[in-house]
Amino acid sequence: MSSKHYGSCLCGAVRFEIAGDFERFYLCHCEYCRKDTGSAHAANLFSATATLQWLSGEDQVRVFNLPSTRHRNRFCATCGSALPDLQMNGALLKVPAGSLDTDVHIRPDAHIFFASKAGWDEALEKVPKVAKLP
Ligand SMILES: [Zn+2]
Ligand SMILES: [Zn+2]
Repeated sequence: MSSKHYGSCLCGAVRFEIAGDFERFYLCHCEYCRKDTGSAHAANLFSATATLQWLSGEDQVRVFNLPSTRHRNRFCATCGSALPDLQMNGALLKVPAGSLDTDVHIRPDAHIFFASKAGWDEALEKVPKVAKLP
């Protein structure tokens, strides 16, 4: 049994379909992911077997590979939203969890590169949770 997932960027130009299952889910706190996402960590799903199909807006998809590193991301040229990317010469599909419009049924496996986390990224589970704007 193989599942299907659908996702899109914020402006809606880019839409995609993922056929297959995710094997790993990592929250990466490395300095590149923090800079790239502008946040505490990236939240990426990985699959060595799932396939990616662009449903619309493929001409809007841009790739950035940080020189001399394996850090690579795809994003929408109009809104900058993170998009799925084939890594390791196409062997591994990386899907930013936040780009998906369908539910993700696996839980994160680990916080990785935790030694590189932001100074303010400490005991965040204790921070008050507000339903909407404070
Ligand atoms: Zn967009
Ligand atoms: Zn990272």
